[in-house]
Amino acid sequence: MIRDELWKTDVNRLLESTGIVANIERYAINDGNGVRTTIFMKGCGLRCRWCCNPETQSFHPEMSFFPDKCIGCMNCVRQCTCGALKEDLTAKREICMDCFKRENAFSCTEKCYVNCRKVTGEKMSVGQVYDIVKRDIPFYESSGGGVTLSGGEPMAQPEFAYALIRTLTERWISMGMETCGYADSEDYEKVLPYLDTIFMDIKHIDPDKHREWTGQRNEKILENIKYVDKLAGAYDNKLFIRVPVIPGFNDRPEEISEIARFVSGCGNVAGMELLPYHKLGRGKYYSLGRKYPLEDMIPPTAERMEELIAIVAGCDIPVYKF
Ligand code: SF4
Ligand code: SF4
Ligand code: SF4
Repeated sequence: MIRDELWKTDVNRLLESTGIVANIERYAINDGNGVRTTIFMKGCGLRCRWCCNPETQSFHPEMSFFPDKCIGCMNCVRQCTCGALKEDLTAKREICMDCFKRENAFSCTEKCYVNCRKVTGEKMSVGQVYDIVKRDIPFYESSGGGVTLSGGEPMAQPEFAYALIRTLTERWISMGMETCGYADSEDYEKVLPYLDTIFMDIKHIDPDKHREWTGQRNEKILENIKYVDKLAGAYDNKLFIRVPVIPGFNDRPEEISEIARFVSGCGNVAGMELLPYHKLGRGKYYSLGRKYPLEDMIPPTAERMEELIAIVAGCDIPVYKF
């Protein structure tokens, strides 16, 4: 929850606010208008089976290992005094978490000079983030771009998200946010006055099916979308609804129709985007020592996507592709 006193805090003091950032991607072009910098924040209350950013789900830093880049120098094994690293270079992760809590670092990663064993998740201040994003201000100005908060779920670290959004906006950077909607309603009200664009997800209308595939029911999410929609008119936000199209979960025409009907009942949605399932995040699961949950899943065909897009367009909802 964003404390009321933050509203009154001088914006220069917000530069000291800290949060956990998974990654900062420069020159992103799919997260809003123009050239953007996307800040991927750690932590999410959902566990979508298709998630392509599993390294952002946990709130804590994690160690990733990408074996295809490993040169076999064994520096990491020599550095590990806990016996967690095996000959095949896989780690006993429960020991690693204890190691991290004790040392506040994954020390083996510091000896991996090719960076195939690395930490995801770094405590950063708003000032440190600003120092990175400000290098690209000329690109934002020439392309109509800006900065997008993503994740994970940015609103899962609400005060850090608020501090970032307000600080960058007051430095004339256009701000966008991608949110799954699983957050406190009051917090949306506090960030919306500073946002140009907000992307919210609808994954399914049926609460039970939503829980089966994401770990949580969707009532709160749908309520938040209605709430943000109401405020978007007042704050002049561009609100887009995104739907990840997942075969066997929500790719039947009637399921997309239900979502489109819900969106038609909103007054300020600028448009919808349907995002076909892909497998690009698969390797990240294995790098974290996890199994990929949808190994046999096949992405939707172009024909199926066209059919579903036509349903949305048939409800007079503009269809976007960012
Ligand atoms: S995180 Fe710690 S325990 Fe785990 S492999 Fe690295 S040094 Fe060893
Ligand atoms: S330090 Fe890095 S490159 Fe060397 S063996 Fe370990 S993971 Fe592989
Ligand atoms: S809401 Fe997004 S970040 Fe969270 S688990 Fe689902 S896909 Fe991943």
